[in-house]
Amino acid sequence: MSAKRLQGRTALITGAGSGIGQGIAELFAAEGARVALLDLDEAKGLLTAARIRDAGGEALFIRADVSVEAEVRGAVDAIVGAYGGIDHLVNNAGIVLVKPLEECTEAEWDQVMAVNLKSIFLTVKHTIRLLKQSANATIVNIGSVSSFVGQGHTPSYVASKGAVMMLTKALALDYARAGIRVNCICPGITDTPLFRFHVSKTANPKATLESRAARVPLGRFLTPRDIAKAALYLSTDDSSGITGIAHLVDAGYLAAAEWDNRQI
Ligand code: NAP
Repeated sequence: MSAKRLQGRTALITGAGSGIGQGIAELFAAEGARVALLDLDEAKGLLTAARIRDAGGEALFIRADVSVEAEVRGAVDAIVGAYGGIDHLVNNAGIVLVKPLEECTEAEWDQVMAVNLKSIFLTVKHTIRLLKQSANATIVNIGSVSSFVGQGHTPSYVASKGAVMMLTKALALDYARAGIRVNCICPGITDTPLFRFHVSKTANPKATLESRAARVPLGRFLTPRDIAKAALYLSTDDSSGITGIAHLVDAGYLAAAEWDNRQI
């Protein structure tokens, strides 16, 4: 049996009560990490932590809003109290606002930026002294295919995800000599509650779902596990030479400017 790849490490994963974050937490725990799950949603966070423990893993749920500095600082203190340090940070929590720009309120715009982007500033600010003490430190930020291309009726989301990719590169440079690798994963369409919410806000959800599915070259939506495997890769020695990249996991979505699935 091969050794667990994150044995003895501690990972902090934001937005870990649902979707992609939950998938990352479960895979990291299965690979031996102690996982600290941050989420706004207490019920889903506690359930995820319980499921990880039932499977033999080590998990701690902390309810915190990643866009509020005092809550992030408090969560980090709680993790240090429980586990002593942090080796891997995964900035996954995110929200989407589906509205054309002129219909967005200032508060809505600020909230998307705060949850998707400012959260990374806050988590890195409060974990960096711990990451610097780790011999295996990594940061993985979850961007999106929208880090590269636009999508309709989600201007604040697209702007925030473009910035997540650039913040990743800036942090990779600043912390390279401290031995901390910082990378970004840019998922394509991943079947999660957030994706289903986004589709539900479109004029014809059924048609939207069908047209989105038809545009994916691999012929399926991604799963949280698909993204989690990339997060594991970027958090282990398998990616030891990699920092500052934006790693697409998109089932081929951005490979085509035009693509007709009837051709194959
Ligand atoms: P999800 O299922 O909605 O999970 C996100 C989790 O983050 C939820 O549990 C949510 O709690 C939590 N959260 C939201 N705001 C928070 C806050 N202020 N503080 C702490 N936790 C908060 O979404 P997902 O699809 O897995 O998305 C995860 C990440 O992947 C996001 O950054 C998203 O932009 C990115 N992404 C997703 C897709 C996709 O197709 N699904 C594609 C590209 C990128 P609540 O339920 O209480 O809001």
